Amino acid sequence: MEKTPLSVLQQVFGYDAFRGPQEAIINSLVQGNDALVLMPTGGGKSLCYQIPALVRDGTGVVISPLIALMQDQVDALRELGVRAGFLNSTLSFDAVRQTEAALLAGEIDLLYIAPERLLQDRTLALLSEARLALFAIDEAHCVSQWGHDFRSDYLRLNILQERFPAIPRIALTATADQRTRLDIQQRLGLTEAESFVSGFDRPNIQYRIHAKQTPRKQLLAFLKREAEGQAGIVYCLSRKKVEQTADWLVQQGFNALPYHAGLSAEMRQQHQKRFLREDGVIMVATIAFGMGIDKPDVRFVVHLDLPKSIEAYYQETGRAGRDGEPATAMLLYGFEDVVKLRQMMAQSQGSDEHQRYEQQRLNAMLGLCEITHCRRQALLRYFGDELPEPCGNCDTCLEPVDTWDGTEEVRKALSCVYRTGQRFGANHIIDVLRGSDSEKLRRFGHHQLSTYGIGLSLSTTEWRSVLRQLVANGLLEVDPEGYGGLRLTELCRPVLKGEKTLHLRRDARPVKTETPRRAAAPAAVNEADQPLWEALRALRKQLADEQGIAPFMVFHDRTLREMLANKPRTLDEMAEVSGVGAAKLEHYGEAFLAVLAETSEAPVPVG
Ligand code: ADP
Ligand code: ZN
Repeated sequence: MEKTPLSVLQQVFGYDAFRGPQEAIINSLVQGNDALVLMPTGGGKSLCYQIPALVRDGTGVVISPLIALMQDQVDALRELGVRAGFLNSTLSFDAVRQTEAALLAGEIDLLYIAPERLLQDRTLALLSEARLALFAIDEAHCVSQWGHDFRSDYLRLNILQERFPAIPRIALTATADQRTRLDIQQRLGLTEAESFVSGFDRPNIQYRIHAKQTPRKQLLAFLKREAEGQAGIVYCLSRKKVEQTADWLVQQGFNALPYHAGLSAEMRQQHQKRFLREDGVIMVATIAFGMGIDKPDVRFVVHLDLPKSIEAYYQETGRAGRDGEPATAMLLYGFEDVVKLRQMMAQSQGSDEHQRYEQQRLNAMLGLCEITHCRRQALLRYFGDELPEPCGNCDTCLEPVDTWDGTEEVRKALSCVYRTGQRFGANHIIDVLRGSDSEKLRRFGHHQLSTYGIGLSLSTTEWRSVLRQLVANGLLEVDPEGYGGLRLTELCRPVLKGEKTLHLRRDARPVKTETPRRAAAPAAVNEADQPLWEALRALRKQLADEQGIAPFMVFHDRTLREMLANKPRTLDEMAEVSGVGAAKLEHYGEAFLAVLAETSEAPVPVG
């Protein structure tokens, strides 16, 4: 039978239909054209080169800087019955020889290569003797000096065009911005290539941003109510907090592991492996954890501290839900975060200009936290994407924000900051406003100020919320040198003069426990199906362990969920399930059918 893109999609990968622009990209490549693909994480970039490589004659060469992932990528392809291999510095000499021989014999469909390896004369000579289907340049933004992941090796990849003019090339990235896109086109000689630019929305991720009140309680409530037994990442700013949070989660009965740059390389690797291979591990980590995490079933990303920019926030939350199933991104942020980040920035080595730039990025992040309309619209707009309607799947859409006229209180707070000399932090200001009787206040004579005790209408928590919003709106700024002292900015003038009213967001009451209802189906299964679900997962884990691979390489959650819903009884019915291709049907079909038959209720005999 003739191999078409659709037949490969269905038989090898077990999926029924292409997503978004996949089909157009694949057809273009199959016809021998070049392509530039910008697609968000989880959009399905891999199929865009894997399928053409299988349809066209010869080997598809995939260039990727993520050496640590190559083994996993190759394992996952082999699970599908695809002949895959890789060449990088981790291989022994013998293994290299074997792979090279297989390539020349035409026995490899997909070959992953690190860029520095590809550029060696020996490799280039080898490739010119092999039959090649295409070159795929993954993480193509690495060619741009603007990005964070610049690799000088990538600059030399234009050699492919000169040495292999007849072989189609496809460059892929999830990085959005215009400048990087132009760089990729120019530096890789892809100005003639067709561009396929998808929107950057991740509709399956539910964004939630809440004021930090009792962070551990808030985290626990979320985990218990919505994420029991699921894999996720909890980001913290400091190593110490990572350790403490991981310990505490373990005490609460969760399978949690710490990850930060202070741990030995060995331990980090071991924890990363457990995160990939075991079900339901929670990784508590600093931002050192993330680059190149290819786990599709991360169900949540929680930030216990404020990320320092929207770019960082989007990248970190983007690690959730690559498989397209519902996932949650929850951020808890508070006043202390702003002070802490400001201080870290002031201590960093960068030039003044650089620091100002970082400050602007932090301000944009704060702005996102305090907005009262759809988070997703704001996020996408920041990246130059327009979402015409509110999304219905973020906290502000699900639970419209309550606002109040805070003009009067704001004026009290601003004048209190002014009268205490613009050098005290939030706690002190609140003490003055609420008329506390403290030694410190007396020492500075602040109990005699006209603003002493004028703020009893609000609780301490409410005042913190007001001050936080004033910083976010730019009416107050945090002194970076000192200890979080607050001072007025130009923007205060119209407010103090009574020319401007201010509407503030009312934070949820601390006691409040309901969470927004999910727009998408919850990731949890219903109670009646629970035993069968557990049995399917246990079988998956056992099969994965036997081969030393990750459970998701056997079947994704989505596939198990579909088995649960359809309860296939024959191999033919099993083949209909999304994610069950020919190779997996052969290897695992019977075993899963047996579990389904065993655990499902026996039919009631008639008569
Ligand atoms: P990216 O590299 O863009 O982040 P992947 O290529 O890893 O995304 O794909 C994300 C997930 O979507 C994978 O689990 C993949 O198997 C799945 N997927 C991709 N294309 C399809 C499709 N057409 N139908 C069903 N699932 C798909
Ligand atoms: Zn929304």
